[in-house]
Amino acid sequence: MNKVDKIIAQARSEGRTALLEPEAKAVCVAYGIPVTKFSVAKTEKQAVEFAEEIGFPVVLKVVSPDIVHKSDAGGVVVGLKNQTEVKAAYSRILKNSKKYKADAKIVGILVQKMAPSSTEVIVGAVKDPQFGQTLMFGVGGVFVELEKDVTFRVAPISEQDALEMVTGVKAFPLLKGFRNSPAVDINAIVDVLLCTSKLVMDHAEIKELDLNPVLAYAKGAMTVDARIILEPAGN
Ligand code: ADP
Ligand code: MG
Repeated sequence: MNKVDKIIAQARSEGRTALLEPEAKAVCVAYGIPVTKFSVAKTEKQAVEFAEEIGFPVVLKVVSPDIVHKSDAGGVVVGLKNQTEVKAAYSRILKNSKKYKADAKIVGILVQKMAPSSTEVIVGAVKDPQFGQTLMFGVGGVFVELEKDVTFRVAPISEQDALEMVTGVKAFPLLKGFRNSPAVDINAIVDVLLCTSKLVMDHAEIKELDLNPVLAYAKGAMTVDARIILEPAGN
């Protein structure tokens, strides 16, 4: 069994259809999608060790099958610059998570490299009942949430399709550089779309995928949050 099949089998064996962020990111890594370096800590001491290994600044996040939107639960703390801040964030996240859902199962605390802030884009995939695996692209923030400014293509997509998806959003000028947002690496975003297309084509059991956000830079791109939902077992 390959790495991705193993991760999916593990989730299935626990009766889950949602992969945890570290699982979804491991799937991304297997398909060449760039993600921030990460480790799952089981203790505060381990969180500090991982933060030292990864290098500051880091971000800590709750890993729980019962918490889907981590920031809603106070389960994400960004910009941690030293050991003291990591320790404080570790206990704060546990406390917030318990408050949000008293019986939430906490698998661990995800320690990851903090990516420098930049223009945020969203890459997604949904399994359309009629067209099958379909990819989505949008620019983060109000563009996607309020304006529904997104492009879709049925997978598998070509490089040309991916480029059209990126250039096809109304917010595209932002990616080319506008006022205080610098020009970003369009090829890096195209690559993420192509890798995502390959991933969902290889794995028909993926029902939904969200890379939200992917930070786009002058050179390269970095996924900082990934969510993958599987078809119900037996489908
Ligand atoms: P949620 O489950 O609430 O979507 P995210 O993992 O997306 O949680 O984190 C919330 C926000 O925190 C992200 O939209 C992003 O702006 C920021 N963020 C999360 N992880 C990182 C990271 N590694 N580097 C930089 N910013 C991050
Ligand atoms: Mg997110």
